Amino acid sequence: MKSLEQLLRPNIRQLKPYSCARNEFHGEATTFLDANENPYNAPYNRYPDPLQTELKNKLSGIKGVKPQQIFLGNGSDEPIDLVIRAFCEPGQDNIVAIDPTYGMYEVAAGVNGVEYRKVPLSADFEMDAEAVLAAADGHTKLIFLCTPNNPTGNSLSRPEVFKVLTRFDGIVIVDEAYNDFSQEPSFTKDLATFSNLLIFQTFSKAWGSAGIRLGMAFASKEIIEVLNKIKYPYNINQLTQEKALHILDSAGTVKTWVGILLAEREKLKQTLEALPCVRKVYPSDANFLLVRVDDADATYRHLVSEGVIVRNRNTVTLCRGCLRITIGTPQENELLVGALKNRAV
Ligand code: PMP
Repeated sequence: MKSLEQLLRPNIRQLKPYSCARNEFHGEATTFLDANENPYNAPYNRYPDPLQTELKNKLSGIKGVKPQQIFLGNGSDEPIDLVIRAFCEPGQDNIVAIDPTYGMYEVAAGVNGVEYRKVPLSADFEMDAEAVLAAADGHTKLIFLCTPNNPTGNSLSRPEVFKVLTRFDGIVIVDEAYNDFSQEPSFTKDLATFSNLLIFQTFSKAWGSAGIRLGMAFASKEIIEVLNKIKYPYNINQLTQEKALHILDSAGTVKTWVGILLAEREKLKQTLEALPCVRKVYPSDANFLLVRVDDADATYRHLVSEGVIVRNRNTVTLCRGCLRITIGTPQENELLVGALKNRAV
């Protein structure tokens, strides 16, 4: 790997970060008159902990990663943007990513004026590490991988991911938003081996907390320091920190939800495969199924008319004719199947 000094944009390397009141004094005191807060309306009159210490300490135990190796953002979308802003010089550097994948990587690259190079997956959605590495050049700072991948649902082959991690001299982002629904282990175990590894996870999927907007990033202490240097000072609000601490106490419930969703995923796959309008249900390691149907646009419109909303992926690379269907409750999945049956007759 190149050094972080070499990889960082020059302006970020030189940047002196903003030092907020809660950075300069953090601890116990009787009287806080340092942050121009209102003394009334406790506890929400106070700015939240800018580094979310309590939350990171708790996550550290759950994830097996040191608190200094954790960054928390306003959803995963925040670290996706921050890592591009930190490392990619607009109009000069570029990003390589698999295609199809989660759409926000390309949007964030576009917002930042950074070239985004797409490397197609194979017809069965596997990544060719050689092709990914071949798309990179001296100006490639980041490679985005997503496993299990969205919208395809499959996990990328681990040896192929390791090939990219071993041979790329920039930062490899492994987005594990859907890892809790997969039998594959998280790449967090590999952080000690690969200093260029940056992992994203989220509270939005298995943890059932998309509404609180909380994304996690795990990496070397040095990469996390870069993200902390350029984030908004109080990027995770107090309500979100409180709710997240609460949901982390409910790991048993989350495990139950995941168990139900995995059983429903299997059941729904079998049911869909038996429907005449369904051509193929792709294998999934996530909480959704990618399903090829006879006429995706017409099927999508029919489902909308029945009040069932899925994601039409008909125009996405390799996904022609496909709908992406999130696994719901057993009742919701039955409504979906009933609506599809209505279309079949
Ligand atoms: N990564 C992937 C692969 C996703 O599919 C999504 C959302 N659909 C996200 C990240 C966004 O997560 P968050 O809600 O944490 O911003």
